[in-house]
Amino acid sequence: MNADSLEERLSQIPPSERILLLPHCLRPSQSCPGKYNKQGLQCSKDCTEDCAIGHLRRMALHLGYKGVCIAPGGRLAVNYVKETHPEAIVAIACQKELEEGVHGVQQLSDSGRPAPVIAIVPLAKDGCVDTEVDEERAMEVIGLGCSLEPVKSGGR
Ligand code: SF4
Repeated sequence: MNADSLEERLSQIPPSERILLLPHCLRPSQSCPGKYNKQGLQCSKDCTEDCAIGHLRRMALHLGYKGVCIAPGGRLAVNYVKETHPEAIVAIACQKELEEGVHGVQQLSDSGRPAPVIAIVPLAKDGCVDTEVDEERAMEVIGLGCSLEPVKSGGR
């Protein structure tokens, strides 16, 4: 499937049927006040960091996404997909997570449900800690087919 038709398909799916998967390595490792639990990294309500996770998470929730998972690994991301049954996934991911997680999601179609549409935004700077993403591109993909104006700034 080429990128255009994939983005077209994503545009047809309402945000309430989409989830956003974010890699925890995007957080500022020295100053992030978030805490981990079984659902991944949980952002602190008091966080004031200028952080890509905060920006993208807030935008997705503002648009009405079904959920956002900040995953420390592909396996947790796959479990989140199994729990939430989205029709579409926007995933910000590095190569390792793509292999481990996105491949696992695609295999969910074997369990009787159609596999969700997966739109991937690769990391601009990889490396497992303090990674970076092209936020503008990520916001463009997250907002495909959505009518609300995205939230662009702020710590969370
Ligand atoms: S928004 Fe704040 S709490 Fe959430 S990942 Fe970024 S630095 Fe951590």
